[in-house]
Amino acid sequence: MTVTKQLYQLQEIDLEIESEEKSLNQKTSQMGERQALDNAQARIASQQQHLDELRSQQHGAEWEVDDMLSKIAIAEEKLYGGKINNPKELSSLQHEVSTMKGKSDDLENRALEIIDLVEAAEKSVAGATSELQKMEDEWQRQQQQLSDGIEQLKSRLAELRQKRQQLSEEIESQAVKLYEKIRQQKKPPVATVEQGICHICRISLSASELQRARSGQPVQCGSCGRILFIP
Ligand SMILES: [Zn+2]
Repeated sequence: MTVTKQLYQLQEIDLEIESEEKSLNQKTSQMGERQALDNAQARIASQQQHLDELRSQQHGAEWEVDDMLSKIAIAEEKLYGGKINNPKELSSLQHEVSTMKGKSDDLENRALEIIDLVEAAEKSVAGATSELQKMEDEWQRQQQQLSDGIEQLKSRLAELRQKRQQLSEEIESQAVKLYEKIRQQKKPPVATVEQGICHICRISLSASELQRARSGQPVQCGSCGRILFIP
């Protein structure tokens, strides 16, 4: 096998290593990423707070109804107790009771409205909580998948690095040095030649460049400086 063919193979391994490293970084950065879950949790917390406020309003409204009912009971006891005989006083008390009954109806209606709101808020908290549970399950599944993917990539990378090590030991050290030097400046360092043209910088090579490249010894493109490889 020619030296340039070996360098080309080395480059293919390097490209694969780079691509696997990119995937590994992507997957690693996705590990533990739970912004969507945190947002959903925050929404539930605020819904729960609203529900707590409504429940406290409900208790207040119910207390007001009870209070009004006991005031009515006391007034009615006076009214029908037979202790008051003055017609003016009786009529005024009757009026008071009927006013209080009107208020008590209003308070009951208000309490019922709040109970409806509480029930709606309870439903929405329960719905959001079960939705969050589904999201959590899905997240756990994805995290497991990511973690499996990361393990696979790591072992593939270890394999590739070992292969790279072996191959670079088989290649003439001068050629490897040249490859590494070019690679530090431009990637990829090896350019294939197709129909007499450097595949990367698209420059037509001279007859003598082509002839030297055909020998399989590393020849650099006169334009971009890459090692030319004729497949
Ligand atoms: Zn070139």
